[in-house]
Amino acid sequence: MNSNYKFYVNGEWRESQTKEVIEIRSPYKDAIVGKVQAISQSEADEAIQAAKVAQKDWEQTSIRERGDYLYRWIKELATMKEEIATTIMQEVGKGFNDAVKEVERTIDLIRFTIEEAIHLYGESMLGENFPGGSRSKIAISHRVPLGVVLAISPFNYPVNLSAAKIAPALISGNTVVFKPATQGAISGIKMIEALDKAGLPKGVLNVVTGHGSAIGNYLIEHPGIDMISFTGGSETGKRIAKLANMIPLVMELGGKDPAIVVKDANLDLAVKQIVSGAFSYSGQRCTAIKRVFVEESIADELVSKLTKELETVTIGSPEDNKTIVPLIDKKSADFVQGLIDDALEKKAVLITGNKREGNLIYPTLLDHVTADMRLAWEEPFGPVLPIIRVKTVDEAIDMSNQSEYGLQASIFSQDIDQAFTIAGKIQAGSVQINGRTERGPDHFPFIGTKGSGMGTQGVKRSIESMTREKVTVININ
Ligand code: NAP
Repeated sequence: MNSNYKFYVNGEWRESQTKEVIEIRSPYKDAIVGKVQAISQSEADEAIQAAKVAQKDWEQTSIRERGDYLYRWIKELATMKEEIATTIMQEVGKGFNDAVKEVERTIDLIRFTIEEAIHLYGESMLGENFPGGSRSKIAISHRVPLGVVLAISPFNYPVNLSAAKIAPALISGNTVVFKPATQGAISGIKMIEALDKAGLPKGVLNVVTGHGSAIGNYLIEHPGIDMISFTGGSETGKRIAKLANMIPLVMELGGKDPAIVVKDANLDLAVKQIVSGAFSYSGQRCTAIKRVFVEESIADELVSKLTKELETVTIGSPEDNKTIVPLIDKKSADFVQGLIDDALEKKAVLITGNKREGNLIYPTLLDHVTADMRLAWEEPFGPVLPIIRVKTVDEAIDMSNQSEYGLQASIFSQDIDQAFTIAGKIQAGSVQINGRTERGPDHFPFIGTKGSGMGTQGVKRSIESMTREKVTVININ
């Protein structure tokens, strides 16, 4: 606890010449987890330069050899599993068991990424297939890396969502400048300690730390960056998209995922999925269920079952693996409270919750939420769930689609035809039928539309997003 964590450039762990450090406070206890360096722009420059230089050799290293480094990374991560999970718990307040699962999922993700990349092949084409073409022209197409990838990750999955950028970048021959979320940076640094132990050549991966508001713009606009893979809030994402040079961007942003419960739904199944979807890790998941649309005729029954299910949700410390834990910081808890207060002022009906102890907000269920309330539209990133009663399924679809977001949606119906029809009309990257909204398994395509992002993640898609096709044409004379 309370160590001074260094940043990592060109294979060296260093303290910043600024002599400035940022204290990382635990969200759930009055303690400092550690300090990270607030680096300068010239140190950020050095990191990008180191990545640029290292990229030439890294690209030339065979994919199997690159894979071997990543396999060694997995081995080190497995050895450090408990240590990293403890850091995740202390730093971002995630239940210990879930933190362990995050590290295990990351190991699986890296392994799958290596294997997927090794089995991706290029293609060849004959000119004769096009009118007037001839067999004397042969195109050979294969994928090449983009160069230096800037990976910026959010606080809520500080290891998994960082590795989901770093692994596909590295296996496909890119080098990386990794900027973790400040709250989450120590978990990110520990994960990179494991990569360092794996003997990765210097400069191939560099970690820069400091507030996004201080070094973020500099990194994004830097001409040495060839691609940005970003996960975080929609406002930050929009700012990045405006500032970035003409380089590929992949963005995973916020959401307001609806669950639509229709008359014939299996309510017991829906209730279990909705409660776990909305309240796991206090709702601090991009794909948390953030509003429920329910047909009037079954609304009372649904609300009564949800209320009962909510009694089983545990509240307290991540060290005791509780589901509802203190939110990441006071600002976030104040924001969630503001959404609850606004809804109550506008006559939403409180079913349970609206109790607060510091940053801990008790699971809150609000019924009769209407379109004039902020809670119908804004992403709380906290444990509050609005119930919006609708007269028809079409009303639910309309209101779902009026959102600025379009990440995922859940539909609960036993009529598969109806579920498919609704799924077809919903503006979202993925629609889950009879299940909660969630990212993963990590090889499924993961897409945010509208304000929820751009580009596609998921192992194969992530590799594709960090490479481009290169075509060589042989002309037989
Ligand atoms: P955030 O405040 O947007 O921060 C995300 C990252 O951006 C952090 O590393 C942050 O650094 C950095 N950043 C901030 N300002 C920047 C700037 N001007 N330039 C460059 N980088 C900058 O988001 P968060 O609070 O960590 O995460 C919660 C949000 O992420 C929610 O909206 C959630 O829905 C979304 N999210 C989306 C997905 C998805 O897959 N769609 C997954 C997880 C989370 P600092 O920490 O130093 O400020």
